[in-house]
Amino acid sequence: MTSRPPRVRFAPSPTGPLHMGGVRTALYNWLFARGHGGTFILRVEDTDQARFVEGAEQYIVEALAWCGISPDEGPIHGRGSEELGQHGPYRQSDRQALYGPFVDQLLKTGWAYRAWDTPEETAQARKAASEKGETWQYDASTRAGLRNECGLSTEKVAELESAGTPFVVRFKVPDDRTVQFEDAIRGSVSIATSVMDDKVLMKADGMPTYHMANIVDDHLMDITHVIRGEEWLPSAALHVLLYEALGLEAPVFAHLPLILKPTGPGKLSKRDGDQGGFPIFPLEWTDPKSGAVSSGYREQGYTQTAFMNMLLMLGWNPGTEQEIFSLEEAAEVFSLERVIKSGARFNPEKARWFNEQHLRASAPEQLVEPLQQLMAESGTTWDGAQCLQVLSMMLERVTFLHEIADASWLHTAPSSFDAKLVRKKWKGQTPEVLGKVCGVLSGCEPFKAEVIEADFKAFLAAEGLGFGAALLPLRIVLTGVGGGPSMFEFAEFLGRETTLERIAQGVDRVEKIKKSEA
Ligand code: GLU
Repeated sequence: MTSRPPRVRFAPSPTGPLHMGGVRTALYNWLFARGHGGTFILRVEDTDQARFVEGAEQYIVEALAWCGISPDEGPIHGRGSEELGQHGPYRQSDRQALYGPFVDQLLKTGWAYRAWDTPEETAQARKAASEKGETWQYDASTRAGLRNECGLSTEKVAELESAGTPFVVRFKVPDDRTVQFEDAIRGSVSIATSVMDDKVLMKADGMPTYHMANIVDDHLMDITHVIRGEEWLPSAALHVLLYEALGLEAPVFAHLPLILKPTGPGKLSKRDGDQGGFPIFPLEWTDPKSGAVSSGYREQGYTQTAFMNMLLMLGWNPGTEQEIFSLEEAAEVFSLERVIKSGARFNPEKARWFNEQHLRASAPEQLVEPLQQLMAESGTTWDGAQCLQVLSMMLERVTFLHEIADASWLHTAPSSFDAKLVRKKWKGQTPEVLGKVCGVLSGCEPFKAEVIEADFKAFLAAEGLGFGAALLPLRIVLTGVGGGPSMFEFAEFLGRETTLERIAQGVDRVEKIKKSEA
């Protein structure tokens, strides 16, 4: 392991919105950099123009910003924005000129060769093999019989050259070797070259492929640790060989476990989210072609800290019972050694639990503004003191802040009433009892929860009434629903006048409903 401060990168391809697995990769890279006084780089890998999706890069940048993972270097960050510094640019399409010399070096040293086979020809060879039940790959066993520098005569090569026939450059995977490297999470990894094919390094249009651009950039950007998803593990063997071929030191590799479906085997996909009703993306995404909208954690009401905490624990554990972390705390304790090797199963219920925990741990003052914004959508204006009162009544009872805005009875007298509750708790004498409650409430001085509660209890004792006989009907007329905060606190929040109004109105409305049903 190198001793200089680490330089790590998150290297998404702008082929669509960022999957939450991608956000977790970014998070682990960022935590690793923060915890070791290192640098976190955003590099946009956009060499595959065919898969380019409009708006995807902007989405990635916005998503990282919402997540609180800010790159030290990147297309619009840090040095990337003012001057390119020694490591920029940070978008591969702006770095095209840098890859050619590395490809040339590999050609010169015999680690790569030019190939003129058309995609149709290789597809045909693959098809012919599969018809015989075999798998075909472009490798040491087949390359001599194909249209490339290893298989064709010098004259034929010269002919293709002078005709300007387009070619690709392929890596010459050594025959009969085992590539071995240490993965910071998985330990020793060995891959036989016999299962590897001669990957294309440069396409016919002169653009590097992912593998070439990726390792050249990791080298030029002085990347010390490559922390990425498990799906890249097979590519790591090729990357190790490429570094060897170029005479360069390879970075440390760390391959993160897959995020698995909530049930059953396999990688968590967008379909799982659609079926299970949970988001897969950090922010809402509108597909530029189909217009289809996919929900986002932000829009569903998750706080940034809860979403990050959930991802932190999806593949890593601190070795203690602690589950709740802020990003700062996580950066202090995060280590690659404690990343798990096996897949991490996603649990949507647990995601909700994290939101609940973070919401409850928030300073209420910080929730005032977000609550006011949510309330504005329903045309309700609460001042700071009212918001704090509502938060103190409701925070323990919700998973998302928007549930407070959804509880219309907090600001508007109910016009519908929980039918089951009414059936069970609304008796013949209830209107009379509530009439007396109004009398009690009119006399509470001051109109504060503690006084209301004491006077209410004294009234029950004097009348010989059970708690439920008066309190549940009071809840019905004030809120229309079964559960909720203390009715004494809620009455204080409403104020005497509105409370009395709601009781009178509620009794009328419930009685009417009952009569119409009778
Ligand atoms: N561009 C690759 C991706 O989209 C990066 C893989 C890597 O980190 O090497 O995930």
